[in-house]
Parts: sequence; C-alpha cells; structure tokens
Amino acid sequence: MTKPIEVRNPRTGKFDYVIIPPPPRLVVQQCKRTRRAQVRWQQLGLEGRIEALQQWKDAILSGRDRLTEALVNDTGRLSTSILEIDSFLSSIDRWCRLAPELLQESAKNTAIPFIALQQTSVPYPLVGVISPWNFPLSLSTVDTIPALLAGCAVIVKPSEITPRFVAPLITALNTVPKLHEVLTFVEGAGATGSVLIENVDLVCFTGSVATGRKVAQAAAKQFIPAFLELGGKDPAIVLESANLELATSAILWSSVVNTGQSCVSIERIYVADSIFEKFYHQLIAKAHRLELAYPTVESGEIGPIIAERQAAVISDHLLDAVEKGAVIHCGGVIEDLGGGWWCRPTVLTQVNHSMKVMTEETFGPIMPVMPFSTVGEAVSLANDSIYGLSAAVFASETEALEVAYQIDAGAISINDAGLTAIMHEGEKNAFKFSGLGQSRMGAAALKRFMRKKAILIKTNSMSDPWWFDNQE
Ligand code: NAD
Repeated sequence: MTKPIEVRNPRTGKFDYVIIPPPPRLVVQQCKRTRRAQVRWQQLGLEGRIEALQQWKDAILSGRDRLTEALVNDTGRLSTSILEIDSFLSSIDRWCRLAPELLQESAKNTAIPFIALQQTSVPYPLVGVISPWNFPLSLSTVDTIPALLAGCAVIVKPSEITPRFVAPLITALNTVPKLHEVLTFVEGAGATGSVLIENVDLVCFTGSVATGRKVAQAAAKQFIPAFLELGGKDPAIVLESANLELATSAILWSSVVNTGQSCVSIERIYVADSIFEKFYHQLIAKAHRLELAYPTVESGEIGPIIAERQAAVISDHLLDAVEKGAVIHCGGVIEDLGGGWWCRPTVLTQVNHSMKVMTEETFGPIMPVMPFSTVGEAVSLANDSIYGLSAAVFASETEALEVAYQIDAGAISINDAGLTAIMHEGEKNAFKFSGLGQSRMGAAALKRFMRKKAILIKTNSMSDPWWFDNQE
C-alpha cells in the first residue's frame, strides 16, 4: 500500500482532501494498458480523434460548475480559475482546427531520380505529462491536447498540491470511452512521477529546475525525449521613452496575477534613472488599489498563496532583501487570514543582485525596482540570471526591439508583459535553466510528438541494384 497524501486547502489551511497514489506496480500496468489502447486511437484517424476531444469538451462544459468548484478549492482563487477553464476549452478548439494542416504529409521528389521519398511521421505511443500546482488545469493539458491529436496516448500526473480538479475531468472522460482508454490521470507525488518516466516514451515536464534536473536524468536513462518547462525570473526593462501609465499597469498586472505564482511573472524591474522615482511611485499607487480576495472568493484580486512552502520562500526573499538594505514600500508581509497565507502586492527599492529577490524565483506578488543609467547596463542586468524564460521591454517600438534582440530569453513582450499567456502562435524555447526541448507553443508544439519516418521507394525497374553498374 502507498501512503495517502493529505491535501491542504489554500484558503482555510485545512487538510480537507486526500489522494491515494497507486502502488508502482499499478502505474506500470496502467502504462502498458494505455500504450496498447494507443494503437486503436491512432487507427481512429484524426477526424475520429477530433470528434472524441470535442465530445469530452461538451461533457466538461455540462459539468463546468463542478470543475470550477474543484479548481477554486485547489487554488483558492475564482476569476483566474474561470479564465483557466475558458482557456483550456478554447485550446481544444484551437488544436482541433490546426491539427489537420499540421499533420498533413506529402510525397517529395529527391535529388536521385529513381528514388522517391515519402516523408511520414508516427506518434510516440505513450506520453507522460507531469505538471505543477500554479495553473493545475492549464499545465496538465497544454501538452496533453496536441499529443492526443498527434495520435499519442497520454498519462498525466498532476501536482499532489492541487489534485481536486482531476475528478470532474474524469467524470467527463467516462462519457467518451474511446478517449478515456488513452487518457489517464494518476494521482501522487514525486515517487509516482518517477515511475511514470520509466514507463513512457516521451515526457513533458513543467515544474522547478531542481525537479527538472531529476526528470532529465531519469529520461536520459530511458533514452526518451524530455521537454522541460522550468522556472523563471522574468525581467522588465522600462526605458525613458516608455509610456509610464501603460508600463506601470502592465508590470503590476504581470507581477501579481495569480498572486505572482506564474512562471512568466515579472519578478524584477529595471527602470531608466530619469523616470525611476515617478515609475515606482505610480506602481505603488496602483498596487494600493488592489485588494485581497478575502474574506469571500469573489472579492478583491489577489488570491491566497497556494503552496504552503512558497509562503516560506517569499518570506525568506523579503527578509534577505531587507537585511541587505532594501526598502519595502507596500505589502511585504505574509499574513495569516482564516488559516490561509496571503501577501499583498509588494514594491521594493534599494535592491541589487546580491539579493535573492533579484536572482532566485520568488513566485509571489513581489516587485523589486532597480534604476539603470544606460541601456547596455539594463540589458546586462536582465541577462544576469540563470533563467531565460521570457521578458518585457517598455519603450518606443524601435528602441524596444533593439533591446529585445539582446535579451537571452525565449519570448519578449514589447509594451506589455506575459503576452505568451494569451498568444500561442509564437514558437519559443526556454533559454538557460528555464528549460529544454522544442517549443510548446506554435506548430512545433504538436509536431514534437511525432517521430519522423522516411519511406524510400526505388522507382525504376532496373533489375540489378545500381551499385553493380560500374563493375567489370
Ligand atoms: P515541482 O518541481 O516541485 O513539481 C512539479 C511536478 O513534478 C509535481 O507534479 C511533482 O509531484 C512532480 N515531481 C516531483 N519530484 C519528481 C520526480 N523526482 N520525478 C518526477 N516528477 C516529480 O514544481 P512545483 O513547485 O509544483 O511548481 C512550481 C515550479 O514550476 C516553479 O519553478 C515554476 O516556475 C515552474 N513552472 C514553469 C512553467 C513553464 O512553463 N516554464 C509553468 C508553470 C510553472
């Protein structure tokens, strides 16, 4: 028997839900069963797969209230949960629309006149998806939907910190048996994730750098591809030519949305000397207008800190910054309200790169603001990080573009922040320790689930193979 895992409610602090991870033997059996079913799923063809996914979507829609309730209990926030569900449902439609063109194959001429090439692709049979707690639904499904359309079977292991949303998804899956046999959710923590990696043909992992490293090593042992989407410490650079109203609103939104618990949160802000004071005063004024979503889930904008361990990280970073001379202008404390942990939008100045708050992932609504005197200095500061997920630049478009090309990160938003959250066409890689593998956005996101296969056809009728031609 494996040990049950008690799950904490982020609003009440109470452990009011339990998951029982299956023993490793059952995970192995499930992988075998799902891999066998993949053959039927592939034979069903793309049209059949689209139909099954659409049926699942309809079933989820009819039980939407239950999914919302579960996700709210997992995360303690309401409006972001509604957005998360909307974006998941529209991602099913988007991929169903794009897949037919992306999966089209054609015969090609080759440089050798008597050899024709049919370039085909076959799906990896079984994909494992391992996801984190900050956007439980989105990050369990972002890779799952394109993988299913590509013809793979998928086993998802969501975070043990936010597992409640899975039950309503399974209820909906039960109404679509063809899909249910190739899409499974397994509950559990790291140990279950490890077993999964040993039994799948490809792994998509979203989570921390520390776990990502373990996942990469385990995948290397199995010789399977690992797509890793890891942590970030996204910088925003604000040049003198920036529209200040726009910059302060966009940066505030990007830093505090989902209480800063987003891999693409703006976590450090570099502002031109000449506008530094004006910038941070405006940021503070706007931060003061935001309220906690407490006591009711409908109130305010800032939800609770979802993972208890993250509250300790935020506290530690703030303490470290203050000890090294930082000034906190608003927020700055972790509050215990009704058993949950909360943090108001926090603006800091007098910060530098000796502080954790400028170098390590904080994952909270924390906005450290630092002045720079030259654009070159701003670029060096932005690039002075082990991370390279994304970034934002605020300036006139020409100036901003020049800076964007110099930043070592996979996606740069200009005159806004976190645009990858709403625009999925742009292909991007995670730079440095932010990840590994092909883009999870754009066309590559689906194609990475296919292995290329070249079928080489000899088209002339010469009875002797060509390599005998010149022999005496
Ligand atoms: P985590 O690394 O602690 O856990 C992620 C998942 O890995 C969980 O499901 C966990 O159970 C599982 N796991 C733990 N040990 C494992 C092992 N040895 N083998 C296999 N699986 C294992 O991360 P977290 O705290 O849940 O999530 C927060 C992190 O996720 C942050 O660093 C954040 O930046 C990152 N993140 C990245 C992106 C992105 O797209 N780059 C998106 C969201 C979150």
